[in-house]
Amino acid sequence: MTTLTIDQIAGAIDVTCDTVIRNEKYFSDLDGLAGDGDFGTSLATGFKVIKAELPTIDRSAVGAMLLKIAMVCSKHVGGSSGPIWGTGFMKAGMASKGETEVSYEKLTEMVGAALEGIVARGGAQRGDKTLIDALIPIHEKMQEMDGSDLGAVLAAVTAEADKAIDETRTLVAHRGRASQVGERSANTPDPGIVGIATILYDWCKHYGVDYAPQAAELNR
Ligand SMILES: [Mg+2]
Repeated sequence: MTTLTIDQIAGAIDVTCDTVIRNEKYFSDLDGLAGDGDFGTSLATGFKVIKAELPTIDRSAVGAMLLKIAMVCSKHVGGSSGPIWGTGFMKAGMASKGETEVSYEKLTEMVGAALEGIVARGGAQRGDKTLIDALIPIHEKMQEMDGSDLGAVLAAVTAEADKAIDETRTLVAHRGRASQVGERSANTPDPGIVGIATILYDWCKHYGVDYAPQAAELNR
């Protein structure tokens, strides 16, 4: 069975920090199309702190590491994203409490716990044009697969997030700041969904997994 070590998980988080920091302006510009234009800066502010603290974060257990990252998110990620991303890391950390490595089943459970927490915290439903429109199909795909080939899983979940960009593009946002502009949010991609898809696509590139993206936002 495939397992991930704490150092491998920390490595993936470090790649995520680089993605978020590199896309600060792009994510804020996307958010500015229908929202208040703070998404990229909110996220990057927090992930700069995570990047700086990651080398010295407690790695005695996966849960302890993720709970520490959750605290940094809650404290340093601004806007509505702080509680959402903080809750995601906190629930994933609680689901992996005490583990020193993570099986594929456990990883799937952690993603499910993060998703459930984010739904409870943000109150969004599927189709409300938020990042859960990417996270739900990602979690379903993980449940369908056996995890014997993590590269295949990564390509498959990246495809789900990629599809979610175009499937939700013409929807009107019902949650978050974008909902306040109503119809103006139709025909713009959701920055949270693009954020998830961009992180996963960068993981593909970093780990040498072939993936040909469809959405324009991943083909820049
Ligand atoms: Mg915003």
